[in-house]
Amino acid sequence: MKKSIKDIDLKNKKVLIRVDYNVPINENAEVEDDTRIRESLATIQYLIEQNCALIIMSHLGRPKGKPDAKYSLKPVAKKLQELINKSVKIAEGIVDEKTKQLAKNLKNGEILMLENIRFDPREEKNDIEFANELKSLVGDDAVFVQDAFGSVHRAHTSTYAIAKLLPAVCGFLLEKEIKYFEKILNSPERPFIAILGGAKVSDKIGVIENLINKVDGIIIGGAMAYTFLLSKEIKVGNSLVEKDKLDLAKGLLRKAEEKKVNILLPIDHIVATQASDNVEYKYIDSIDIPDGYMGLDIGKNTVSRIANIILSAKTIVWNGPMGVFELNNFQEGTRQVALLVANATQKGATSVVGGGDSVSAVKKFKVADKISHISTGGGASLELLEGKTLPGIEVLLDK
Ligand code: ADP
Ligand code: MG
Repeated sequence: MKKSIKDIDLKNKKVLIRVDYNVPINENAEVEDDTRIRESLATIQYLIEQNCALIIMSHLGRPKGKPDAKYSLKPVAKKLQELINKSVKIAEGIVDEKTKQLAKNLKNGEILMLENIRFDPREEKNDIEFANELKSLVGDDAVFVQDAFGSVHRAHTSTYAIAKLLPAVCGFLLEKEIKYFEKILNSPERPFIAILGGAKVSDKIGVIENLINKVDGIIIGGAMAYTFLLSKEIKVGNSLVEKDKLDLAKGLLRKAEEKKVNILLPIDHIVATQASDNVEYKYIDSIDIPDGYMGLDIGKNTVSRIANIILSAKTIVWNGPMGVFELNNFQEGTRQVALLVANATQKGATSVVGGGDSVSAVKKFKVADKISHISTGGGASLELLEGKTLPGIEVLLDK
């Protein structure tokens, strides 16, 4: 386990914290969705209670290593100020003279937000010199707090190099992410099932390869199911298929069989000629999809077949929607799975949902509060499910 802010004395310290405020900004320069800011509040409030002088850093978008007003964190600082009801100073830069002065004058209990860390080209280069300049803002006696789960799969200056220079611990948000992923990956209550879907097999090969060694069953839906079905010579019409992944899909099915891991693929489908609410859709009560049609959602027989498996599971990890859930005509399979995962959780299962679109689905179908853990990092959660160690976590102090 990694040390958290509860395991270290922070009273009256200067703290440099990395958060993930990569939030959508609208054309009026306002924060469009403040979820990520709200998720950081517990950590920030705790640090303020400890009378820390707090310097916040985050990235926003991809500004290509130079200042770009479009990616300024000013709207974010304003939103944070509103949410914590406390003044938040925003620096014009990162390690320029003016910002250094602001940092030097920062008093205990005050908050300063640096500009977008990616305005400096050295951020993505994991640069020791840049890390030293960041450290000089807080001094030798400071602490580094990592709470940006969405960024810890990258070894950047603000996620790695800086953590080598100061005592580095996780904030509450990162701590919770690590706790859930460690639990499901290292000591899951059984049966343990994975529900995988979404757009591409290629995105999730590593996840399947790793989870085959850990789970009791895998439910596969979404577009990637069609590559698996075609690899078994089932007709998939015009469904999205990754032709160059057919052998790999076959290999994964064989491996699962050897390991006695049940892989469940769709047995019926909702299809249409294209992914649109403006064309006619129909239900196909067979595993084969007729020519000219695309599989865009799992059918009702597939749902009833997976229902018992989900409801009797004690650990569930879900990544990837079962169909094109953004469209009314193809949302039902994902909606049913969301309700089933919520039900299983209420009966005592531990459920973890990861992936940007899967998280949107869980919110859309209003079961977010019934899931044990909704991960805040798409890429980072995938890498953990792939069995990788993440540099930004690895570098933190052990308990
Ligand atoms: P996540 O963000 O949860 O990891 P992905 O990004 O892998 O999920 O996949 C989500 C996308 O997959 C959604 O936009 C959804 O519309 C699409 N999708 C799901 N099923 C299908 C399908 N059968 N055909 C085409 N696209 C699909
Ligand atoms: Mg996605």
